[in-house]
Amino acid sequence: MTGTVFVSGGSGYIAGETIRQLLARGWAVHTSVRSLSREAELRAQLGGTAESLKFFAADLTSDHGWAEAMAGCDAVCHMASPFPSAVPKDENELIVPAREGALRALRFAHAAGIRRFVMTSSAAAIAYGHPPGKSQYDESDWTNIDAPGVQPYIKSKTIAERAARDWVAANAPEMDYCAVCPVAVLGPVASGDFAASIEIVERLLNGSIPAIPNVGFSVVDVRDIADLHIRALEAPAATIHGERFIGSSGPFQKFADVARVLRDNLGPQARKVPSRNMPNWGVRLLAMVMPPARQLLGELGRVRATSSAHAQAVLGWSPRPPEESILDCARSLIEKGVVKV
Ligand code: NAP
Repeated sequence: MTGTVFVSGGSGYIAGETIRQLLARGWAVHTSVRSLSREAELRAQLGGTAESLKFFAADLTSDHGWAEAMAGCDAVCHMASPFPSAVPKDENELIVPAREGALRALRFAHAAGIRRFVMTSSAAAIAYGHPPGKSQYDESDWTNIDAPGVQPYIKSKTIAERAARDWVAANAPEMDYCAVCPVAVLGPVASGDFAASIEIVERLLNGSIPAIPNVGFSVVDVRDIADLHIRALEAPAATIHGERFIGSSGPFQKFADVARVLRDNLGPQARKVPSRNMPNWGVRLLAMVMPPARQLLGELGRVRATSSAHAQAVLGWSPRPPEESILDCARSLIEKGVVKV
C-alpha cells in the first residue's frame, strides 16, 4: 500500500528519517511543523518535490491547520510530542500537548475519513513504575504513572498512548490504529537539531560526563524505527489493528557498554570518552547540586530489557545491532561538527 500519509512533526529526528524513507518508497507526504519558516531548511534535508512533500503549520495545542494538513491523506503517522532533555518545572508542559495532540490528530483523522493511524508512543509507556525486581518487558506491560519517581516525559507518553487507545475504542473502533513504542533512538543525525536521546552519545564523546553512572537503556536505530513505522503503515489491517509494537534492537546497554563501543572503535576520536565508573553515592551527591542528575537516581543499577519479538514476528521487522547505531551516531556527530573531538 502507498498513497498519501500525514506525518506530524516533520522537524523531528525520527520523523525526518521516516519521511525520507516514505518518499523513497513512493508515498506522498504531508507533514506539519509549528512554523512554516522552517520549510526551506527541512526540504533541503528531506528531499522530495513540491508535489511529493507538502508542509503545513499545525501545533499540538491548537486546532488550526490540522484539517488542511490531513485533507487527501490515506494514513497518519503521529510522531510529534514534546521530548525535551530538561525536566520541566510543571509536568503539564509535556502531558497536555502530548495527550491533547494525540487526541487532536485522531479526531481530525477520523473526520477526514482516514482509517490507518500509527502513533509513535515509547517504551516509556511500558517499562516504568514497576516493582524493582522486574527487568523484562513486552507489549502487555504498561507504565504505572502513579509510582514514585516517574518522570514527566514518561507520564506524558503513557497518558497520551492510553488516551489515544481509549478514544479509538470509544469513538472509532473500526480505525486501524496501532502504537509503535521505541526504546532510546540512536543512529546518524542529519543536522545539529536532533532528539534528546542523541545527547547520551554526544556527552560521552565531548567529555562532559566525567565518569560513568551505573545506568543504561536499550537502543534502536533511527533507520530501523522509521522502517517499523512504515511496516505498520503498509501491513494488512488485521495484523496491526489495536496492536502495540516495541521497537528495540535487543540487549540492554549500560552507559559503560556504550562508552566501550566508542573507545574500541573510534581511536583518538574517543579520547574524551570516560572509562572510570561513578559510584552510586557519587550520583546521589551530584543530584543534590545538579538537578538534571536527579533523573538518574531511580535508574541506578536498574535493567529494563525490552523484547521486539512481536514486531519481528508480525511485521517481519529486523533491526540492526546496537553497536552499529552507536557508532554511526557518533561518526555523524563528529562529521557534522556537532562534537569537537
Ligand atoms: P524530536 O526530534 O525532539 O521530535 C519531536 C517533534 O515533536 C518535533 O518535530 C517537535 O517540533 C514536535 N513537537 C513538540 N511539541 C510540539 C507542539 N506543541 N506542537 C507541534 N509539534 C511539537 O524527537 P524524536 O525522537 O524525533 O521524537 C519523535 C517521537 O518519538 C516523539 O513522540 C517521542 O516521544 C518519540 N520517541 C522518541 C524516542 C527517542 O529516543 N528519540 C524514543 C521513544 C519515543 P519542534 O521541532 O517545533 O520542536
